[in-house]
Amino acid sequence: MLEIEGITTRYGSISALRDVSLTVGSGEVVGLIGPNGAGKTTLLGSISGLLKPSTGTVRVEGVDVTGMSPDGMLRAGVALVPEHRRIFTDLSVVENLKIGGVTVSASDRSALIDEMVELFPVLKEKWNTSAGFLSGGEAQQLAIARALMSKPRLLMMDEPSLGLAPILVDVVFDLIRELRDQGKTLLVVEQNATRMLGISDRAYVLRSGAVVAEGSGAELLAREDLFDTFVGN
Ligand code: ATP
Repeated sequence: MLEIEGITTRYGSISALRDVSLTVGSGEVVGLIGPNGAGKTTLLGSISGLLKPSTGTVRVEGVDVTGMSPDGMLRAGVALVPEHRRIFTDLSVVENLKIGGVTVSASDRSALIDEMVELFPVLKEKWNTSAGFLSGGEAQQLAIARALMSKPRLLMMDEPSLGLAPILVDVVFDLIRELRDQGKTLLVVEQNATRMLGISDRAYVLRSGAVVAEGSGAELLAREDLFDTFVGN
């Protein structure tokens, strides 16, 4: 589904990613973990079109999409739930969802809204509330629902459990599990590394802009030498 080959991404003269390669297969849940500043957000930005890699290629289902705009990537089937859940706080819950569905047909949009109501009952209760009044957990669910409204073939999430109370962290992990069971393809950055590895088919460990380990979630959990890298256990 997604193939990243030899990506280098710079901020001015600083290389935040160095020769990073990664794949996500259809229906896979892939975790991306590593300490602060490792380059995880930069990698998601380089895939979603927010940042342009200086070398390397990004392919979606075999098609080279390197350097495509964020809008083009969304149309290519890649959606991002950014760090700090950037929802439109002045708009209501349902308006946020409708904006998430601008790339799909009107009939798909209305079917997807029904799906979101089922997946996120809490949103239905707050349907016409301004998103700015939602709690952190509700806002995160809205951010994920809004991304799902584009009917993505790959959903990427950047630290979805960040800043949430423990009970809401459980809600986020339950949701990732549910999306996995529905066969969705996910690439998830998480500081809660051990929990993420517990539900990942495969994962990559990033440190100082480079991939330092990859394997199944279980394999990486057994790697004691990596534990210093598993920030947020
Ligand atoms: P965190 O877990 O703290 O979000 P991360 O693994 O997502 O970290 P990035 O945010 O991708 O890491 O940052 C990778 C490196 O790039 C860091 O050294 C960071 O300081 C640097 N960096 C990030 N954004 C910028 C920017 N806009 N300009 C310059 N340097 C940046």
